[in-house]
Amino acid sequence: MSTKIAHKSETKEFQAEVKKLLDIVIHSLYTERDIFLRELISNSADALEKFRHQKLLEDKVFDPDASLEISISVDEKEKTLSILDSGIGMTRDELVDNLGTIAHSGSKTFLSELAEAAQKDVNLIGQFGVGFYSAFMVAKKVRVQSRSYLPDDEGHEWSSDASGSYTITECPGLHRGTRLIIELKDDAEEYAKEETVKRIITQYSNFVSFPIKLKGETVNTVQAVWTRSKNEIKDEEYNEFYKFIGNAFDNPLMRLHFTADAPLSIRALLFVPKENFERLGFGRIDAGTNLYCQKVLIEQHSENILPEWLRFVKGVIDSEDLPLNISRQALQDNALVLKINKVVTKRFLKFLGEQAKSDPEAYEKFWEQFGMYLKEGATSDFTHRDEIAKLLRFESSKTEGGKMTSLAEYVERMQDGQKEIYYINGPNRDAIESGPYLEAFRKRDLEVIYTMEPIDDFVMSHLGQFDEKKLVSADRADLELPEIKEDKEKKDENKEPALPKKEGEKLIKWMKEVLGDKVKEVVISSRLVDSPAIIVNPDGFMTSSMERVMRASSQEMQQFGGKNLEINDSHPLMKNILSVKEKDEPFAESVVKQIYDNALIQAGLMVDPRPMVERSYEILERAVKG
Ligand code: ADP
Repeated sequence: MSTKIAHKSETKEFQAEVKKLLDIVIHSLYTERDIFLRELISNSADALEKFRHQKLLEDKVFDPDASLEISISVDEKEKTLSILDSGIGMTRDELVDNLGTIAHSGSKTFLSELAEAAQKDVNLIGQFGVGFYSAFMVAKKVRVQSRSYLPDDEGHEWSSDASGSYTITECPGLHRGTRLIIELKDDAEEYAKEETVKRIITQYSNFVSFPIKLKGETVNTVQAVWTRSKNEIKDEEYNEFYKFIGNAFDNPLMRLHFTADAPLSIRALLFVPKENFERLGFGRIDAGTNLYCQKVLIEQHSENILPEWLRFVKGVIDSEDLPLNISRQALQDNALVLKINKVVTKRFLKFLGEQAKSDPEAYEKFWEQFGMYLKEGATSDFTHRDEIAKLLRFESSKTEGGKMTSLAEYVERMQDGQKEIYYINGPNRDAIESGPYLEAFRKRDLEVIYTMEPIDDFVMSHLGQFDEKKLVSADRADLELPEIKEDKEKKDENKEPALPKKEGEKLIKWMKEVLGDKVKEVVISSRLVDSPAIIVNPDGFMTSSMERVMRASSQEMQQFGGKNLEINDSHPLMKNILSVKEKDEPFAESVVKQIYDNALIQAGLMVDPRPMVERSYEILERAVKG
C-alpha cells in the first residue's frame, strides 16, 4: 500500500481551439521539430525576464535569491528531457489559463492560417509562435511543475498526453519557477541526447539573455550584441542574432546598428527582414522591436518605442536613461520613451534614404515588401511626414512599366514653369494610359505619377506638397495646365474644329438637364483630345480614387462629392448629338446617359450595371437597324 499523501487533483478538458492546435502540431508539424526547444527556452527566458522586472516592483517575492537561469537535463535511458527555470512561475489558475486555452485574439483565423502554413512552408511556422504546445511535436506526455513568485502560493503540476484533457495536481515543495518534463515519443529519442540539445541551443537560443545550462555548463553566449562596438561584430554574428530575435530562418535584408550618447544614451540594432508576412496575408504583425534598459528587457514587442508603422522592423533598442523599474503601463506616455522613439525613427528614415542611394537594388526590394508601411506612415504620422515623402516610390508616365521614381526625381525632371506635381490613380498602368485623364498631359509632355494602390491618393492628399510643389490629382476640375506651345498646336492638323460657341452652350445646358443631380456641372473641356467626355472633381480634396475607397467602406452607393462632366466639343459624338435630339429626343437622352456612365467607369467609379447594360442594348439595336 502506498503511504503517499493523496494530493488534490482535477482533470479538465482543453478548450476546443487548443484541441485543434494540438492536432495540427501533432499531425502537420514534423519537419522542423527542433524548434520546440527554442519555443520552450524562450518561454523560460520570458518568465525570467518577467521575474526580474517584477522583483523591482514588489517587496516580497518567493525565493528572492535563486539565480536566474535555465537548466536543461536529459536522460537517454528514460527518454526524457526537462527544462527548468527560476522565472516568475505560474499559480494554479495561471496553469489552467495559459496551458489550457489560447489567448490569441482571433484564434480561429490564427488556426486556419497556421494549418495552411503548416502545409506550405515550415519557415512560416516560426512566425506563429506555436509556443508551449510545440512540445507535443516530440512528447508523448508533458508535465509542467510550477511555483509562482507570489509568497503565499503553492506549487502545482499540470500534465497531459494531448488526448483532449489535462490534469492539475497539487505539488508542494517546489522552488520558484517552472520545470517541464517531457516524455519523448519513440521517434523523438534524439532529443534525449546531449549533443542534439547542445546543437539546437547554439543554433536557435544562443542569444537568450540568461545562462542556459546543460550538465551544469553554460551553453549559450549570453551577450548583448547591441552593446558591443560595431567593428568587433562579424556579419555572421549579426545574422545569427537577427534569426534569434526575428524568429527567422534567413538573413535580414538590411541592418542598422547605431549608438548615441548625447543628449540620450541609445544603443539600437535594427533589422529589416527579407519578407513581409503581413503582405502575404497573415494578418497584422506585432511590433518587432524590444525595449531594453542596461541590457534588461523592459518591453518585448514594444508598441511604444517605435511608431506603429515601423512594426516590421525587428531589433533591440536599449537606453540607460530609462528607469529600470518603469512599469509597462507607464511606458506609454513616458516623455523619455517618446524622445527615444523620435530619435531612432529619424535615424532609421535617414538610414533608408542612404540605402536608397548606396544600394538602389536593395532599396527596390525593400520598397516592394515594405513600401506599404511607409505609405501608412505618410498618412498617419505628421512628425515624420516630410522625411517619409522622400522615401516614397511610384511609377509614372516617364518610367518604364514596373520601374519606380521618387518625388525628388520627378521634381528634377519638371518643365520650366511647371509648378505642380501631377498624379492619377488607376488599377494598373495600362488602364491609366488608355484612359482619358492622361490626354492633356501627354499633349504637353508633362509627367504624371501613377498611383495604383487604394491608399496612394490618401497619401498624396495628406502630403499636400513636396519640395514646396503642390501635389495635384489629374482628375481635378480646376486644373490649370500651361498653354500648349503655338507651333505644336499648328502641327495638329488633323484636329477637328470644335462646335460653335453658341451650339456648345446649348449642348451643355441640355446635357445638365438630362443628367440632373448626378452632376454638379457640365462644362466644355480644354483638356480632352480623343475622348468624348471625362469625370472631374470640383471638390479639391476628394479624388475619384478616394471616393472609390470610401464607397467600398460604406453601405450605400453614396456619392461623396459632386462631380463635373467635362465634354470634348471637337468630338463627333458631341457635334452630332444635338441634331439627333431634334429627330428623336428620348434616344439622344439615352446616349447622354451612356456617355456619363462610360466616363464614370473610366474614373474607376462603379455604376449600376443593369440599367446601363439595358440602355446600351437599346443603343446598339438602333445602330444595327441603321
Ligand atoms: P506565448 O508564449 O506565445 O504567450 P505559449 O503557449 O508558449 O504562448 O505560453 C502561454 C503562456 O504560458 C505564456 O504566455 C506564459 O504566461 C505561460 N508560460 C509558458 N511557459 C512558461 C514558463 N516557463 N514560466 C512561466 N510561464 C510560462
